[in-house]
Amino acid sequence: MSHLHLDNLQCTYDRTVAVRHLDLRVAQGELLALLGPSGCGKSTTLRMVAGFVPPSAGRILFGDRDVTHAPPHARDTGMVFQGYALFMHMSVAENVAFGLQMRKVPRAEQAARVKEALRLVQLEHLAERRPAALSGGQQQRVALARALVVRPAVFLLDEPMSNLDARLRTEVRLEIRALQQRLGLTTLLVTHDQEEALTTADRLAVMDHGRVRQVGTPQQVYEQPVDQFVANFIGRCNLVPGRLEAPGAFRAGAQLLPCAAAATPPRATGELALMVRPDRIRIAEAGAPGLPARVKLGTYLGGTTEWHFETEVGPVSVAQPSVPARGAPTIGERVSLQWSAEHALPLPADATAS
Ligand code: ADP
Ligand code: MG
Repeated sequence: MSHLHLDNLQCTYDRTVAVRHLDLRVAQGELLALLGPSGCGKSTTLRMVAGFVPPSAGRILFGDRDVTHAPPHARDTGMVFQGYALFMHMSVAENVAFGLQMRKVPRAEQAARVKEALRLVQLEHLAERRPAALSGGQQQRVALARALVVRPAVFLLDEPMSNLDARLRTEVRLEIRALQQRLGLTTLLVTHDQEEALTTADRLAVMDHGRVRQVGTPQQVYEQPVDQFVANFIGRCNLVPGRLEAPGAFRAGAQLLPCAAAATPPRATGELALMVRPDRIRIAEAGAPGLPARVKLGTYLGGTTEWHFETEVGPVSVAQPSVPARGAPTIGERVSLQWSAEHALPLPADATAS
């Protein structure tokens, strides 16, 4: 049985349908990331699970317990908000103790649990400080400790790293993941950052306009995106418009391009595009089999360089290690672009559209 089950959950604000027909199951100890552009309904979903926003339809189950109508403090959730929402007039220890007071935990036990939670996030030595006297990263840890101290059955994180600078974000991300795994916490992590989702989550749900487009492991979603939206949102990709001429053959203008034969030809043929990741394309000599292309520009990205090509079917990008075996392409050079058929997927614009 899943530990957290969102069953056909919906949320309508005055005029906006923020979340529609949401069906998600999270296993005990699993971290599921909700990923999607701003406004797609991620925070609303989290607030419904925490009990701050009532669903307009559907159910929320923790194990076999239906909590759809339970008040927030009766749900055993620990939530970390985007802006941390710390109480600035309270000390670190008082902030962390807050949830325990709300739950009327005896004083002596409160003190012991606050200490334990601060130890988990390595902030014991700052227990008496006010949040204003802490760095962004330390405030973030206080927010984590405050959520962990209630020993949540479901751990909810709403863009918890977005206020941190890039380096600290990577560090805190690894710490949160390690802590989550060590404590076996069933977790929903909201993020609009695809790298954060890919590196932190056991599975991710890609959302758009209140709907889930795809749920899967990071590998599944990257390697087998169901549609152009998901392919574009997770990682970089080339999309060549065209149609499926035969199994394994994709027609784009005068070009017949190799593609995965196993892919089911979607009904909406008018809006098909062939998806190939930039890191799956090889650059070969002009005249070799493949798509004829001309080098337009190289963008140096450190470990890799992204090469931009003009082709008959539109612009195509290719990612190569910055020290390629065969010498770097030169601007204006004519080449041939090759890929294995299984790495080229014909995708509809929206797989969930009916
Ligand atoms: P996300 O977290 O993915 O950025 P939200 O869940 O915050 O998205 O918002 C989803 C949609 O619901 C958006 O269109 C947003 O404008 C709307 N929305 C969010 N909160 C409210 C609210 N309190 N009242 C009315 N509309 C809201
Ligand atoms: Mg949000």
